[in-house]
Amino acid sequence: MKEKINIAIDGPAGAGKSTVAKLVARNLGYVYIDTGAMYRTLTYKAIKNGVNLHHNQQLNHLLSETLIQLTPEGKVFMDGEEVTDLIRTDEVTNSVSFVATQSDVRFEMLTRQQEMALDGGTVMDGRDIGTAVLPNAEVKIFLSATVEERAKRRYEENLSKGYPTDFEQLKQEIALRDKRDSERETAPLKKAEDAIEVDTTKMSIDEVVSSILRIVEERLDERGFV
Ligand code: C5P
Repeated sequence: MKEKINIAIDGPAGAGKSTVAKLVARNLGYVYIDTGAMYRTLTYKAIKNGVNLHHNQQLNHLLSETLIQLTPEGKVFMDGEEVTDLIRTDEVTNSVSFVATQSDVRFEMLTRQQEMALDGGTVMDGRDIGTAVLPNAEVKIFLSATVEERAKRRYEENLSKGYPTDFEQLKQEIALRDKRDSERETAPLKKAEDAIEVDTTKMSIDEVVSSILRIVEERLDERGFV
């Protein structure tokens, strides 16, 4: 039987992290943890409760009384209520990087995420997994793609869900979120020094998944885990 390692997948919005991380997790029989969904859930609750999205303490207080559960099927529950789709609205998407800037919020999220990975066997995606949450993760991947390509993927995803979006606006929103995520003081979006960068611009999902699985196999081999 294989020992279970942790796999960190970071990168900017729309680089394909969640699609790829889910498939890698399924292939290995690991648990997929979508940390962006946790920040989105807090943002959704803050908007719903009229909490100031720029107020560190108020947000952290709200988080302290919020139960966030992620199921293996990818559903998200907030205090027992399913919010899987509610946290993906434009309003939440365009506000979440303000909430994610707050240092106390990040510290609490980091603590919860580290607990989830204690026993290994996770594929965790986000912005600061390889740098801050799981600095000792055995495999660290940084997924990238051009803004143009990422906007194109979101545009097509939206279209397939039945709501057409303005491509240029989408591109601007993605670029703005990248900027906020990369320039914040606490745990900014950044490639960990020991992360392997995979530029997915010209790759299919299957190619990206296969290349990550190869890296995982090599790492397991090196450690004599196979
Ligand atoms: O991954 P997703 O796009 O759903 O993440 C939503 C937002 O949550 C990001 O734009 C970022 O502001 C924040 N986030 C973060 N750290 C993580 C995961 C997400 O700051 N580990």
